Amino acid sequence: MPIKKKRDRVWIIILTALMIFFILILIFLLGLKEKEIKFTFLLNESREPIEGEVFIKDISVGTLDNGSILIKKEKLKEVTEFLLIVTYQNEKLKFLFNLNPEDLQSDSSNFVLSQNQLIDKYWYINGPHWTHMPITYNIVNKKECGEYERNIILLAFNELHKDTEGTVSFREVNESGDIEINCSFVENCYFYEISVDAMGSFYKIITRERICAHTLGLAQITEYEGNKILKAKIELFGLTGFSEKSDNGRVYDAKKSGFEISDCGYPDTEIHEILHVFGYDHRNNPDSIMNPTAELIGALYKEDLCKSAISSIDLDIVEDLIQNYKEIIPRI
Ligand SMILES: [Zn+2]
Repeated sequence: MPIKKKRDRVWIIILTALMIFFILILIFLLGLKEKEIKFTFLLNESREPIEGEVFIKDISVGTLDNGSILIKKEKLKEVTEFLLIVTYQNEKLKFLFNLNPEDLQSDSSNFVLSQNQLIDKYWYINGPHWTHMPITYNIVNKKECGEYERNIILLAFNELHKDTEGTVSFREVNESGDIEINCSFVENCYFYEISVDAMGSFYKIITRERICAHTLGLAQITEYEGNKILKAKIELFGLTGFSEKSDNGRVYDAKKSGFEISDCGYPDTEIHEILHVFGYDHRNNPDSIMNPTAELIGALYKEDLCKSAISSIDLDIVEDLIQNYKEIIPRI
């Protein structure tokens, strides 16, 4: 019966093909299975394990259950970092981790939460950014800065805090701040001249104040890690001789500080420098606090200098700061 035999062979081929097809589907489905990666999160000092929520950047899946994270396998390649949120001693701590390819292969990994390297509260900001609030600042040489300038610095930080509705905050520390502030003095820059002009039988006393052109402030981000700003330095320049030194043995004005000139009581220069250490650059707009003139002084001291004081922070910078540092955690 050759026809029947032929039919049987056809069936065998069809069944074998179906079996191979199903085996292939099974292999494919197994391949798609979510991969579980086990992590133990330990606190740096106490080494106690902690638990919390996990947010994986750009990826919708992410749960932390007894120290393990489930990530869909097809998404695995895209995972480079994840955010762990834990409540510890009534404070919500956020830690940003990098995910190494080696971690993905092993079943279990230990992560130690180190304050310095892992915290980035503002991990979602693409540009250069600070990693925590409040940002600490340390006035290195308080005595040299003097009371006047210390108040102006405080005013600058308060202004930024107030304008950003508290989003950006600062705290003064007595050593090793995120921002180190130093006061320097420009020597032989201030001249107070008195001359007497004879006009017939009258004499006219002419007083004149003269100041050389110089920088009022300098700012520098001194330590980066990727786009994370870790440390910065601000140098503020006052004038020696404007107040601290006597003029021909006569103290010109003991109450004035070498910093008092040109700022008109408004912390233009100080805010300008602080915004530099947030990554903001100079602007051409003369009304902008980031105009380079905010940190320079002209060749001559003018009586009406206060009229050109800027006295407000650019609205778009304020909005940018609020937008960036308001702590949005994208939940999907
Ligand atoms: Zn500048």
